[in-house]
Amino acid sequence: MDFRQLELIEPILRALSAEGYTTPTPIQQQAIPVVLEGRDLLGCAQTGTGKTAAFAVPILQILYRQTQRKPGIKALILTPTRELAIQIDESFAAYGRHTGISHAVIFGGVSQQQQTNTLRRGVDVLVATPGRLLDLMNQGYVNLAQLEIFVLDEADRMLDMGFIHDVKG
Ligand code: AMP
Repeated sequence: MDFRQLELIEPILRALSAEGYTTPTPIQQQAIPVVLEGRDLLGCAQTGTGKTAAFAVPILQILYRQTQRKPGIKALILTPTRELAIQIDESFAAYGRHTGISHAVIFGGVSQQQQTNTLRRGVDVLVATPGRLLDLMNQGYVNLAQLEIFVLDEADRMLDMGFIHDVKG
């Protein structure tokens, strides 16, 4: 099995090849077709199994294929830590480098200025940790009115952290 068999578009295939990926990992083989069909998915895979590309690649492809891409955040990825958030954003940068899909990352513990400047310019994909996301939403910097795709990364950890209270609220 290679990435071409997953019916990925040329700009993404080129980026994956530049990353040195030849074969999709099992989670990628299983998840990519399901997400490309627009279906909901709950995936379980250990760290290091290629989980990030399993969701980032089909999200990039779905957004790339939209002929009339509306301005605004269309995909939101929530993740528990700053380190994971940065890694995921870097993955969107790498896999999406030939797609023109814009992305940004927001997390706490640093000044919000640079993050709000980026948000004001508009992004297609936002990667966020929950605290800073809520903070910037409450200040009106994050508008999710155009949201189409939502990923809860490390969902078990997020729920352990008490994130469910914000979901319910
Ligand atoms: P992740 O589980 O998403 O954190 O990915 C773990 C590592 O595997 C990262 O360094 C990725 O760059 C790498 N990786 C992801 N998918 C593939 C693939 N299909 N082939 C080779 N390496 C990959």
